Amino acid sequence: MTSFKNELSFAQSLDANDPLKKYRQKFLFPQHNNRDVVYFTGNSLGLQPITTKDYLQQELNDWHAFGVEGHFLAKNPWLSYHELLTDKMAKIVGALPEETVMMNQLTVNLHLLMVSFYRPTKSRYKILCEAKAFPSDQYALQSQVKFHGFDPAEALVEVWPREGEFHIREEDIEAAIEKNKNELALVMIGGVNYFTGQVFDMKRITQAGHAAGAIVGFDLAHAAGNVRLALHDWEVDFAAWCSYKYLNSGPGSVAGAFVHQKHLNNTNLPMFAGWWGHDKSSRFLMDSTFVPMKTAERWQMSNAPILSMAACKASLDIFDEVGLDALIQKREQLVAYLEFIVQEVNKEKNNCLQIITPQNNRGSQLSIVANGYGKKLYNQLIENGVIPDWREPNVIRCAAIPLYNSFEDMYRFGEILKSLL
Ligand SMILES: *Cc1c(COP(=O)(O)O)cnc(C)c1O
Repeated sequence: MTSFKNELSFAQSLDANDPLKKYRQKFLFPQHNNRDVVYFTGNSLGLQPITTKDYLQQELNDWHAFGVEGHFLAKNPWLSYHELLTDKMAKIVGALPEETVMMNQLTVNLHLLMVSFYRPTKSRYKILCEAKAFPSDQYALQSQVKFHGFDPAEALVEVWPREGEFHIREEDIEAAIEKNKNELALVMIGGVNYFTGQVFDMKRITQAGHAAGAIVGFDLAHAAGNVRLALHDWEVDFAAWCSYKYLNSGPGSVAGAFVHQKHLNNTNLPMFAGWWGHDKSSRFLMDSTFVPMKTAERWQMSNAPILSMAACKASLDIFDEVGLDALIQKREQLVAYLEFIVQEVNKEKNNCLQIITPQNNRGSQLSIVANGYGKKLYNQLIENGVIPDWREPNVIRCAAIPLYNSFEDMYRFGEILKSLL
C-alpha cells in the first residue's frame, strides 16, 4: 500500500470509493465539539446501531401487549428467541449452527465449558495459556485449577514472548505443548491478544494441542466479528466470546459459546445443567430427569435475556447483510492506512511511535507505544476528540472498525496526534 497519501482529500477519496461507506450512518457516535469523535474503541465497546432502539422497543411493546404470553405470542416468541441469533452468529465464527449458542456472559461461559472440558487427572492436569492473558481469563483458569485441588503455580503453563519481542511465536507455543505433553489437559488461549492485537494461528495451535492429547479452547472476545474464524474446520473443542466488543450488542450483552460437533453426542460429558439445556420438546413437562439438548444449547442453564438478545440481533442482522468477506477486505485496507498514517507522523517526530502489533497477524487493532509519552498523551487525545484506550504501562490501543470508521478518521487521528507530540 505504498500509494497511500497523508492528505485529507486522499482519505476522502478512499471513503468515496468504499463499498461499505453507508454503514457509518447506521451507527451512533459520541460527539465532541458537535462532531463525531474518532472512535477507536470498538474493540472494547462497539458503537450502537441506530436500529437497536427499534429491536428493543419491539420486545418492550410485546411485553406490554402480552405479558407472560409473549413467550408464545410476541412477534419473535421469547421461548425460542435465542434461535434467531444462532445461524448468523455461527457464520461469523465459522461454526455449524448446532455448535453455537448465545447465552450468559463470556467469563461465565468459559467456566461452564471448562466444567465439561477441563477434566484433570493426577497425571494430566496442566493448562497452557498465553502470558499476560486478559485478567478475567487468568482468574478463571486459576480458580478452575484450584477447584480441582491443584496449585496454579505448578499447573498453569504460560508462554511468553522472547526477550525483546512483543508477541508470542507459535513455535514457542508448540514447543511448550511438546514439553508438557504428558501432563497437559487443556490449551486455552485468547485467539486475538487483547494487549498486542496479535492474531494467533488457531488452527496450528489446535493441531499441536490435539497431538499432545489435550483439549483446545479459545477465548474469542477480540476475535469474533474481527477476524476470520473456522472453529468447526479447525476442530477447536470449545470457545466463548462476548458480543459487546466487535459485535456491537451493547454493554454487558449476551455472550456466545461454541462446542464442536464431535462432543455433542457425548452424553457422559460432565456439566452443570439447568432447565434451558433440557430437550426443548419435553422441557415444559417439568420432569425431574435432565434430558440434554443435542446441540450446544445443552449448556444453556437459564431462560434467555431477551432484551440483550434483541440488541444482539440488531447487530447480527447488520453483519449478515454486509458479510464477513466485505468487512475483512475493508478492515485490511483501513488498518493499513492507519499504519501508514502512524508511520508518516513518526517520520516527523523522531520515530517516537512504535507499533507492537505484528504486521502479518493482526485484525482491527494496532497497539502503539509512544516512547517518552505517558498517559498524558492518551488524555490529550481524548480532550481533542479521539477515543483510543490506554493499557498500563504504556500502550495506546486503536481499533479501526470497518463497519463505521472512515479513512478520514485515520487522517484526522494523524493530524491530532502530530499536534500533540
Ligand atoms: C473483554 C474480555 C473479557 C471480559 O469478560 P466478561 O465476562 O465479558 O466481563 C474476558 N476475556 C477477554 C480475553 C476479553 O477480551
